[in-house]
Amino acid sequence: VKGSYLTRYSYYDKSMRERMFEEQMIVRDMEFALLERQFCVYLQPVCNLKADRIVAAEALVRWQHPTHGMIPPDRFISVFERNGFISRLDRFVWTEVCRFLQAQKQRTGTVIPVSVNVSRLHFYATDMLDFLLGLLRTYALEPEMLRLEIDESAYTDNPHQMARCVRELREHGFIVLLDDFGSGYSSLNMLKDLPVDGIKLDRSFVREVGQSARAGTIMEAIVAMVKKLAMGIVVEGVETKDQLAYLASIGCEDMQGYYFSRPLSEKEFAEFLIRKQGG
Ligand code: C2E
Ligand code: CA
Ligand code: CA
Ligand code: CA
Repeated sequence: VKGSYLTRYSYYDKSMRERMFEEQMIVRDMEFALLERQFCVYLQPVCNLKADRIVAAEALVRWQHPTHGMIPPDRFISVFERNGFISRLDRFVWTEVCRFLQAQKQRTGTVIPVSVNVSRLHFYATDMLDFLLGLLRTYALEPEMLRLEIDESAYTDNPHQMARCVRELREHGFIVLLDDFGSGYSSLNMLKDLPVDGIKLDRSFVREVGQSARAGTIMEAIVAMVKKLAMGIVVEGVETKDQLAYLASIGCEDMQGYYFSRPLSEKEFAEFLIRKQGG
């Protein structure tokens, strides 16, 4: 018993140390990484089943580190939310997306809207709207082209401030989506208080498709509710044909997940679009 305690203790200790080292590396390298363009934006298609077309995409950041390889966002986003760097990284991502949208528009004449993730920190800055409007001017884009995914972390901090921000963004034509809907504590309150355009149903629901009748009932009720509110719904994390068939049967049309495509580099995404729908 004593031995196992020690083993467990040292194991715990080691992983704590490792995590500490990793976090130190992340913080040490972040500024240089941004400067050197080690961060890159991947795009994951959103497919509309009825139209059998790609109708949108989500921008997801990746860190191509010169010695540690590709670092996924789950490892650095929370660090950057704590030290504030996420504000600059997000703005870099939004700028990259606008540059991509402009290039796409010039090349093909049409653009598919791309959604970006908006960290809670932006809701404390007074210049988020100005920054976004500046991007639209610089890249000659319509606000509907850039969708904003917000999650409930900012809402739990300060619901009034967030409601004000969302209203203002929508008055300027931006499309606002509630991210990870159903995964947190205040999804319903947010939906009630924030005039958003749509939700992204968290993939934890999809995972239980076919396994839990209760999850199914709840999902059907969410879909019905969202439709009654005249809002959109994108289902996240669709991986299998069975999930797709079930989701289609309860009236979901817009879906995102590995079944359709993993997040793709800009080049891969442009090629995917051409293959799928000729541009
Ligand atoms: P999210 O916003 O919920 O993004 C969806 C995540 O689900 C992505 O993980 C995506 O790769 C993954 N995913 C997509 N389809 C499937 C599927 O079929 N099955 C499974 N198991 N996963 C799927 P990723 O790219 O690792 O990003 C993780 C999280 O990091 C994101 O979750 C988002 O919260 C955050 N994030 C990513 N990029 C940014 C960014 O530019 N800014 C901010 N603030 N957060 C970001
Ligand atoms: Ca998201
Ligand atoms: Ca999220
Ligand atoms: Ca999500």
